[in-house]
Amino acid sequence: MACPHLDYRDSDGERQFDTARAFCTVTEEFVQPVHADICTERYGLDPEADCEVYRAEAGLDWDE
Ligand code: SF4
Repeated sequence: MACPHLDYRDSDGERQFDTARAFCTVTEEFVQPVHADICTERYGLDPEADCEVYRAEAGLDWDE
């Protein structure tokens, strides 16, 4: 599974990439590699629990 806000893009509008890169449709930015494990739900990570962007978009406070 992966975050519903995750997309993959092979261009940033100026450069074409050899491999599509992870893109967050909430922030409209490419995802930093250190964050991508959350977006792709690797290692038991969960966007709803672990991503500040997802939680802000969903209106969740950290104590929920
Ligand atoms: S940064 Fe957060 S909201 Fe955006 S795709 Fe990744 S997990 Fe989802």
